[in-house]
Amino acid sequence: MRNNFEERLMKIAKECGIELNSKEAQILGDFKEEVLKWNTKVNLTTIVEEEQFIVKHIIDSLMILKNIHVPHGAKLVDVGTGAGFPGIPLKVVRKDLQVTLIDSSRKKTEFLKFAVKKLNLDKTNVLCARAESAGKSDEFREKYDIAVARAVSALNILSELCLPLVKVEGIFIAMKGEDPYGEIEDAEGAIKVLGGKILEVIPYELPGGIKRRLIVVKKVENTPDKYPRREGVPEKRPIKLEKFP
Ligand code: SAM
Repeated sequence: MRNNFEERLMKIAKECGIELNSKEAQILGDFKEEVLKWNTKVNLTTIVEEEQFIVKHIIDSLMILKNIHVPHGAKLVDVGTGAGFPGIPLKVVRKDLQVTLIDSSRKKTEFLKFAVKKLNLDKTNVLCARAESAGKSDEFREKYDIAVARAVSALNILSELCLPLVKVEGIFIAMKGEDPYGEIEDAEGAIKVLGGKILEVIPYELPGGIKRRLIVVKKVENTPDKYPRREGVPEKRPIKLEKFP
């Protein structure tokens, strides 16, 4: 059964223009098994059907590599990683990356710590924290070349969680659905205040005609010290509302 999963994964990936070798497919298969096992006790994902898991979790995560140049050895942080998407598939395929997986849920980070060990992923750090606190700490603030986030919050809020973690000249990638333009409009003020600038919105399509967008934000200036605000404030009072009531 497992080999069947790996073959399907490799086939679908190839159709999407992503070449996976059998070792990578095997590690991603092992990961899927662990997600499904833990999912019976920890609420990790509602996407459990095989093809859906491949497309919506693994292929979607890897689409970043197809669309964006990720430099060798880059430091990447996945904010609100949940069960490890997109961070784990990215790390499996790009072993050179130094990856930090952040989530505020203790149960999810316990799962991720287990999975990282089981899959033998080196240079992969799992952090149970709110992104607001990580963004204030010297250990993480402005230390990353790339921050990625999928399905965490609206772009104005998400920018305050992610941009403080990114080095000047680095990028923040928000993975969004087909029509993120309303969110982008709402977030423009926040992104500017936080030292970012929207570079581009990259469209891509998953099998089954599912349309997605990657919003790429460049960090052009340091984030002012007052951001991120304390835990929960970005969500309660997004910067746009604060600046332009
Ligand atoms: N990125 C994963 C994916 O696409 O499958 C998980 C998405 S899940 C809907 C959102 C995750 O973000 C949850 O696991 C939640 O615990 C985490 N989260 C939400 N706000 C957060 C914050 N301020 N700091 C850290 N994690 C946060």
